[in-house]
Amino acid sequence: MEKSLYERDRVGVQDCVLLEEYMSQDAFINNLEKRFNHNLIYTYIGNVLVSINPYKALPIYGENDIKKYQKTHMIENPPHVFAIAESAYRDMIEENKDHCILISGESGSGKTEASKKVLEYIAAVSNQNGDAKGVKDKLLRLNPVLEAFGNAKTIRNDNSSRFGKYMDIEFKSMGDPVGGNILNYLLEKSRVVHQNNGERNFHIFYQLLKGGTDELLETLNITRNISDYSYLTNKDNRIMEGISDAEQMGEVCQAMHVMGISAREQGEIMAIVASILHLGNIEVKETGGIAEVCGKESLVYAANLLGCTEEELKLALTQKTIHARGESVSSPLDKELSVYARDALAKAIYDRLFTWLVTRFNESLQNNKKGRNKVMGILDIYGFEIFEVNSFEQFCINYCNEKLQQLFIELTLKSEQEEYLREGIEWEPVEYFNNNIIINLIEEKHKGIISLLDEECLRPGDTSDQTFLNKLCDNLSSHNHFISHSKAESKMKKILGRNDFALVHYAGDVIYDVNGFLDKNNDPLFRDLREVMSRTCNSITKAVFPVSELLSKKRPETAVTQFKNSLNELMNILMTKEPSYIRCIKPNHLKKPGVFTRDVVHHQVKYLGLMENLRVRRAGFAYRRNYNEFLYRYKSLSPATWPFYKGPSKDGVREILAFQSCTPDEYRLGKTKVFIRYAKTLFYLEDKFQER
Ligand code: ADP
Ligand code: MG
Repeated sequence: MEKSLYERDRVGVQDCVLLEEYMSQDAFINNLEKRFNHNLIYTYIGNVLVSINPYKALPIYGENDIKKYQKTHMIENPPHVFAIAESAYRDMIEENKDHCILISGESGSGKTEASKKVLEYIAAVSNQNGDAKGVKDKLLRLNPVLEAFGNAKTIRNDNSSRFGKYMDIEFKSMGDPVGGNILNYLLEKSRVVHQNNGERNFHIFYQLLKGGTDELLETLNITRNISDYSYLTNKDNRIMEGISDAEQMGEVCQAMHVMGISAREQGEIMAIVASILHLGNIEVKETGGIAEVCGKESLVYAANLLGCTEEELKLALTQKTIHARGESVSSPLDKELSVYARDALAKAIYDRLFTWLVTRFNESLQNNKKGRNKVMGILDIYGFEIFEVNSFEQFCINYCNEKLQQLFIELTLKSEQEEYLREGIEWEPVEYFNNNIIINLIEEKHKGIISLLDEECLRPGDTSDQTFLNKLCDNLSSHNHFISHSKAESKMKKILGRNDFALVHYAGDVIYDVNGFLDKNNDPLFRDLREVMSRTCNSITKAVFPVSELLSKKRPETAVTQFKNSLNELMNILMTKEPSYIRCIKPNHLKKPGVFTRDVVHHQVKYLGLMENLRVRRAGFAYRRNYNEFLYRYKSLSPATWPFYKGPSKDGVREILAFQSCTPDEYRLGKTKVFIRYAKTLFYLEDKFQER
């Protein structure tokens, strides 16, 4: 039993709550490193799984590994993502509770891989008689399509998810999957029109060019040549190692078919993808301040594929119509605005196509059977981000991580408290940092950053990113977690520019550059373009730009408010479920196996709040075990329990602890479990046990 739990020198301890110096970050990282060097990429903090990306295929995910974890308790086997999946799945069936698995970590740390392993595990152990095969097949096919449209090569990760994803799987009482639902968050649509050096656009563009049939490419009027398209910049270094865009294309189409997307719809989807490439090739020149479209061929192709006339599209790209008192007046755009309008259109079409796909998948995965089913959720969402320059996107992402951290602390403390209560032990308060104060700073009505940003976006008159920044400084200067240029201490002042403000997040200070905040939050798409789109013959663009949106008098919600609302909705969903956590860490920035760079890991341990995690998880006691299990292992350590013992196990445990001279401070005896405060007490007992 639990042999490896105690094996602690050579390969580290598998549960960090058993570290003797559990408060020390160095000891914590040493332990991770030791294990990593033995290809042990998984380590627990209580029932939180820490996972380090090995950047190489490890032989630990095979059929036999699945069998090894099936129907076992977490402590019976070494830490593994399968153990987390098993424990959530088993508890869901046996205790009839909804579960969720929350996966976080920075880009490239292995979140998406972990979420796939969870799915694979569930698919393998559930419904082995086979009548849920259809649903399982769909669940497994989802990823290739979502990744084609939502993932891209970035500097950090060759297959980086550029959106957040929460997926619910629904199960019948016996544990057979019967349906599912996906929620998607904040697709990085700016990538459609621009990519940084060494990065790519979304995979689907390359998959289409490389893997589409000759006939398809001809219909879409596109070539196989990536450098023909200005939205696909950085001509060299396109191909990812080991992954062929052409092969992926086949898999994506096959998967769409399984998901119930018809051949006609697939045609329309590819028409949209191609139309975006053509849009990007539309050139605009300017005469006397008036924009004029010159890439005529591209204009014609784009219009054809979307199903509007070339004239309509041209006008909408070069002029702006204002409707007032029953009249409409059109005025020409200058070149800058026209290019802006073109790019905004490309981004909006792609973003809405992505959401349309998710909606279609949800329809296909909808469970029509009545009755209350159990649910297991999997959240694969961006971790805390601190870049050289942090903008609106990082602000949203870090806000999201504050919310998740808060949820983690609340739920963990709650379950600890419940356990203490159940076991009849006195509650011992845990010291931790409550990040509520930062969340309020961001989202409080009328006073928080989000409200101030929206106010500035809606206020008529001369508003700019700078007026927004002034407003923040005027209103928030006295807040402990807000730092403005004028308030910054001398050291910070040097790095905090005139366009910057900083927030003291739970994971550390982040400097945000206000440039672009207003525009990204307003996210305008000129009405002329939305009108044209709503009249297109491509049934998908027509559907995703509905006429009702044009008729609505209400201002559309700003980007940050939409995000806030969807996050709060997500929190409500997660709150009702039993959570498990997978915290992913990247061992180096080189995407290389076998390299453990302490600095790199150190940062992430901090941003993931792992030390806080450990402190709260440990909540006073390093170790707790049922009386029976404890007695079974250590009965030889007291003459009262060895060689024969027939009494109640709780009394037996008391005898053992007393005989080994453990002081009352070192443990508590609950109703069904013994709680041991220090790892050293446990290891002392363990050494005695081994000596015998
Ligand atoms: P994230 O979703 O956190 O950005 P990914 O899950 O996409 O990161 O992982 C990035 C890459 O790292 C993967 O494409 C894969 O090559 C490698 N990787 C991640 N987890 C594992 C694992 N458990 N075993 C082997 N390779 C992995
Ligand atoms: Mg990912």
